[in-house]
Amino acid sequence: MTVDIITLFPELCERMLSESILGRARKRGFLQIRCRQLRDYGEGPHSRVDDTVFGGGKGMLLMADPIARCIDDVAAQRGETPYVVYLSPRGRVLDQEKVKELAGKEHLLLLCGHYEGVDQRVLDEYGAEEISIGDFVLTGGELPAVILTDAVARMLPGVLAEDVCFEEESHFSGLLEYPQYTRPAVWRGREVPEPLLSGHHERVRLWRREQSLRLTESVRPDLFEKAELTAEDLRLLGRNRSKDGEPRR
Ligand code: SAM
Repeated sequence: MTVDIITLFPELCERMLSESILGRARKRGFLQIRCRQLRDYGEGPHSRVDDTVFGGGKGMLLMADPIARCIDDVAAQRGETPYVVYLSPRGRVLDQEKVKELAGKEHLLLLCGHYEGVDQRVLDEYGAEEISIGDFVLTGGELPAVILTDAVARMLPGVLAEDVCFEEESHFSGLLEYPQYTRPAVWRGREVPEPLLSGHHERVRLWRREQSLRLTESVRPDLFEKAELTAEDLRLLGRNRSKDGEPRR
């Protein structure tokens, strides 16, 4: 997969995307990332990329033309039209389903806004999908772009040691992950739950599943409500009917 990031702060993104698992994935060729300086496509002697907002209001907006030049340049260099994502608090909030979907794209182009954002026309021109990382406002799209890239990259084959690494994690199956422990078996008087020390795979599996269900129900009832519960899940929870009285799947 190829990810191009258009930003006023390429060094910031580059630094965060060069370390650890992502850095190794890039070296091993599972993932190509290029952070592009929007100012290189700016106008005039000062490489201007922003202007005031029509209709009034405080703040500046990134202009359409420099962004379009940069996207066209990326498309020409890569020889393909990228799927354009604009990181924006106005967008659909990123979740694991969307991450899975984006991981299936060959080429992503992530546009980081700054100041008040970007001229709407460039988003319309390239059919950009707007994606938010949460219902709050940040100063720029760089952290969201890095978050999205990290989440997508770890779904690519070969990036993690084994696919099971992410398949058992929070959100992949719609539930939150169970609690985990490492040595020592007793820390400050707190013991690791007994089933995890039993060496009995089935007991471990059932304990983890039950914890996962209970944790999701208490912390994220919205996710729990949507989860497809099996007969075994209901047994683990000590229930045999859903809240509305219908037998649960
Ligand atoms: N005026 C914009 C609005 O009200 O929707 C906010 C602009 S924000 C100060 C500057 C840039 O930060 C945005 O263009 C976007 O790229 C990025 N940004 C801020 N919050 C974000 C979020 N929750 N998710 C994704 N990107 C965000």
